[in-house]
Amino acid sequence: MSNSPVTGTTGSSEWEAVIGLEIHVQLNTRTKMFCGCRVTFGEPPNTHVCPVCLGHPGVLPVTNEKAVEYAARIALALDCRIADRTIFHRKNYFYPDLPKAYQISQYDLPLGIGGHLDVELEDGAVMRVGITRVHMEEDAGKLIHAGGASGRIDGADYSLVDFNRGGTPLVEIVSEPDITTPDQARAFLTQLRSLVEQLAVSDVNMEEGSLRCDANVSVRHPGEPFGTKTELKNMNSFRFLHRGLEAEIERQIASLEAGERIVQETVHFDPATGMVSSLRSKEEAHDYRYFPEPDLTPIELDEAYVERVRGDLPELPAARKERLADQYSLPPKDAALLAENKPLGDYFEAVAAATGDARVSANWVLGDFSAFLNTAGIEVGASPVGAAALAEMLGLVADGTLSGKMAKEVFEVMTTTGKSAMEIVAEKGMGQISDAGELDAIVARIVSANPGPAEEFRYGRDRVLGFFVGQVMKETRGQANPQMVNDLLRKHLGAHGE
Ligand SMILES: [Zn+2]
Repeated sequence: MSNSPVTGTTGSSEWEAVIGLEIHVQLNTRTKMFCGCRVTFGEPPNTHVCPVCLGHPGVLPVTNEKAVEYAARIALALDCRIADRTIFHRKNYFYPDLPKAYQISQYDLPLGIGGHLDVELEDGAVMRVGITRVHMEEDAGKLIHAGGASGRIDGADYSLVDFNRGGTPLVEIVSEPDITTPDQARAFLTQLRSLVEQLAVSDVNMEEGSLRCDANVSVRHPGEPFGTKTELKNMNSFRFLHRGLEAEIERQIASLEAGERIVQETVHFDPATGMVSSLRSKEEAHDYRYFPEPDLTPIELDEAYVERVRGDLPELPAARKERLADQYSLPPKDAALLAENKPLGDYFEAVAAATGDARVSANWVLGDFSAFLNTAGIEVGASPVGAAALAEMLGLVADGTLSGKMAKEVFEVMTTTGKSAMEIVAEKGMGQISDAGELDAIVARIVSANPGPAEEFRYGRDRVLGFFVGQVMKETRGQANPQMVNDLLRKHLGAHGE
């Protein structure tokens, strides 16, 4: 788990992996890419289909304008250039989930070209990953292989097909092969997902398949030409992507060091065994007999349109990170965490606005609050402690009513009961003693009751102060304001021989 290059264990020189990612994003438009069927998930099979998405003869597709706008949003957010003229192509292949025997996709005139994503790595370094292209296409249907143990086609008794997903709008994002480690790949995908999520164009749910990732992988000695690549298909979680890449890189290095050749093929990573196996030999572009889709008109997005879409983009994570670091004087790492998770960033800004103390707010939001969300397994929006409630609690810390330790206790009760900090403090009689007169009397009494230690302090034994603090805390059941206790003790004990 490091960012250093993957190295061969038995070879005489270092190996470097070359990784490019292809990410499919399912758009959350109301209707499909080329027909009026609703885009759904988890509905009874084949209930959202029509002659167009079932590929009946004689029907004509019509491009979904919203899907084009969403694709343009993604392309612009990745700093791509939007093509003046873009067209659809037919990608011909037979598969049972593809009733037309071709997929409508884009080929040599994609919507977006030549962008990049700046990825923040674990060590805080920023790595620029090029985006080759962003194009539009339609999804295939879904095959369900039944009767086998694994849900995979081998070993299945029969297969069923559900066309509800057929024709769902997809955007494919293709990265340059700029990535060299599984860690970088995971960071890229995490941050790309966060970006797309903030554009509100997809649910980006990897388990439900609305974000899918394929990886092209090869290895070489640094400085040498690219090696033969394989394609690792359908990584449906960040963890599988990471493990799959590790396994495939290891496999390739071992093969090459054994004097074998890498075959260009599609491979499958089995998370259960941790092994990579061959699926099929990889097709070349010419195998698909791409040709321009004659049933759809070219799309020409003029400058005014592009500028309007660009103008409608929300604040993107990279810009937000800069602003948070700047506006609230946050460390870059904290700003990055808050910018990456939009609801958490919004929550933080609300707390910071209410408390007027950004640093303390960030510490709590990224510390106890985030830990609570993780443990409870919930998102920010489902938290029983809203931003205003947390801010109120932090106000009680700021005015000395609660100590840091008491605040943690109160927060825990807030998460389990949904009560406000004020209510909890009142009910439990928890308030910290910050009344100078009350504390002064307690401190005076304890100092005069312990003449021995008081004498020692005056002779310079500073450590004795801890004994007195302990006595005061015992007397006040831990509720005395520690700073005030310290000041009062020094006053009553008098200066020692410095
Ligand atoms: Zn349809």
